Amino acid sequence: MYIRKQRLLTPGPTPLYPPALQAMMGSDIHHRTEDFRQLYRRVLADLKEILGTSHDVLVLVSSGTGAMEAAVSNFFSRGDKVIVCSAGKFGERWVELARAFGLEATVLEANYGDVVSPARVAEALAREPETRGVFVQASETSTGAAHDVRAMGEAVSQTDAIFVVDAITGLGTMPLDIDGWGLDVVIGGSQKAFMIPPGLAFLTVSPKAWARAESASLPHYYFDLKKEKKNAEKGESSWTPSTSLLLALSEALRYIRSVGMDRLIENAQALARATRAAVTALGLELFAPHSPAASVTAVKAPPGVDSGIIVKEFRNRFGAIIANGQGSMRGKIFRIAHLGYFDFADLFAVIAELEIILAALGRPVSFGSGVAAAQTVYAELALAPVP
Ligand SMILES: *Cc1c(COP(=O)(O)O)cnc(C)c1O
Repeated sequence: MYIRKQRLLTPGPTPLYPPALQAMMGSDIHHRTEDFRQLYRRVLADLKEILGTSHDVLVLVSSGTGAMEAAVSNFFSRGDKVIVCSAGKFGERWVELARAFGLEATVLEANYGDVVSPARVAEALAREPETRGVFVQASETSTGAAHDVRAMGEAVSQTDAIFVVDAITGLGTMPLDIDGWGLDVVIGGSQKAFMIPPGLAFLTVSPKAWARAESASLPHYYFDLKKEKKNAEKGESSWTPSTSLLLALSEALRYIRSVGMDRLIENAQALARATRAAVTALGLELFAPHSPAASVTAVKAPPGVDSGIIVKEFRNRFGAIIANGQGSMRGKIFRIAHLGYFDFADLFAVIAELEIILAALGRPVSFGSGVAAAQTVYAELALAPVP
């Protein structure tokens, strides 16, 4: 017999930062007190700092999808024409949300594993000058592909449309110049690169988006962003907040500030690069080879192998929880995450485990060849460890 530790290695929820978990035990505070207001103000200020934006930052008690819904219900009116870039399951979520709220959505679709080009967005904007909004994923977690939100932002900022970016796995894995690139609403979630459990979402709101909120008429109640902003200015949330998660977030943000957002991004990018080298060395194919995201690497299962078997073997043999494909990609790909509190030791282990699993499934594997490719990237990059 051998011991196996459980390790959560999915692209959300992600590995938890231990001091953040410990901080959650201080939850016996009331949210209409000065203690809480200090905590809330600090969290909002730290978020703003690490996101590098002058825009307002708001925190909501919900998973990421709640902030996506808030972005639709607070900035749009029934019948508004919008453009939705859809390159995977999360792009499809934008389409469903837009339709659920009665927006008239033009969908720019890309095959799974591909991305929507900024040129297509620019063309669609030119064709429909009445477009009120453009929706996209910075990083499409279901396929492991990343969109060029910088070039898209340039196109959108020349129009009256607001640019709504689901950066739930983009934040902390790719550079995002929120103010400079014209990203009007940028959405994040606690269980991704922020290293804490699910349950908080955040969004940044530009002055252009706030101006839009004045005329937007879709109904909303719980997710009332103008109300949330007014309360945030007093150091409070509109409703009972998730005190425990805010305590965790405060601790995680302290850590992320000490590391630096750009080095957190560098870490994810280095791990992603090493992963791509490793799986390629093992004869596997990348699912999104042309615009690979640094948040997660999607890998095609070898021909004739259900990726669910690989995922199950990771768990059964090594306690490693990795992600299968979603929707029609289920059984075809598996996904290795890099966002947040992931390190090279996690990755070396995952690749060594993958080699054992592939060999057990009868694939020709020379033990150590994937790990060696990852080690080579580590050596070549010669990055300094975070102190
Ligand atoms: C995780 C994720 C979401 C949010 O999903 P929730 O389950 O609501 O937290 C949205 N978009 C992307 C790209 C994601 O990775």
